[in-house]
Amino acid sequence: MISRSSLNWSPLSLLLWVSLVPILGCGGQLANQLANINIFSDAEEIKLGGEFSAKIEEELKIYADPHISDYINQLGQILARNSDRPNITYHFKVVQDDSINAFAVPGGYIYVNLGLIRFSHTEAELAGVISHEVGHIVGRHGMKQLTKQYGFAALAQLLLGKDKSQLETLATKVVTSGVLLQYGREAEREADTLAVQQMHSSGIDPNGIMTFFEKLLGTEKRQSTKIGKLLSTHPGTRERITRVNRQIQKLPVASYASVDSIRFQAIRKRLRNPE
Ligand SMILES: [Zn+2]
Repeated sequence: MISRSSLNWSPLSLLLWVSLVPILGCGGQLANQLANINIFSDAEEIKLGGEFSAKIEEELKIYADPHISDYINQLGQILARNSDRPNITYHFKVVQDDSINAFAVPGGYIYVNLGLIRFSHTEAELAGVISHEVGHIVGRHGMKQLTKQYGFAALAQLLLGKDKSQLETLATKVVTSGVLLQYGREAEREADTLAVQQMHSSGIDPNGIMTFFEKLLGTEKRQSTKIGKLLSTHPGTRERITRVNRQIQKLPVASYASVDSIRFQAIRKRLRNPE
């Protein structure tokens, strides 16, 4: 597998390279490989992601209570700092939405629903889901998905173009089609694996992911409407529990600071009784 970090190409060099492919005579196989790699630089991803997140935020109600949003941002930043991609700026925002969900937009934008915070009984459970979303950013799953959907040449031309309205049009298309909510099973598994590693490195008990999944299993049947689209497209919850458990067993022994925090419980109380 070609590693993206060793191929930090700009769209221009990529277009040049693509034009050479038919001459080299390896188009078909190469096209398959390209579907799984992201060929955009961090700066290009951040530019696209900025457009998408601005468009998405026109549709969402961002929850403004600084007690809650500062807490979510600080928790997210700890996980991002301990990830394999700590060099970009991450933005964590709370969405006033009761469904149990969170999602990531390329470029480091992560949205956490109030429903998810309420559903989590411990900080480790909440951190588990946020860590999974950080995993999508680390794995560059959004950019891979966009490349698969629209083709790298079209995206590269958009990034090179001076016409900002074309970028805005794409952002609208991306938001309405929900293309960023369908990463595929492999990407979801990779995000789970990264989530466990990030939690371990952050000193937050990765078993929180397991207890969250267990609770989700119990809820899936009773209130499936409350479980957002994103979680419902993931691999089966039982399968995820088994994989995550296996990974945790292999981790070096660690004594995690806590599975909970006083601050998290204060946040939960605040959500129950808003001032
Ligand atoms: Zn996911």
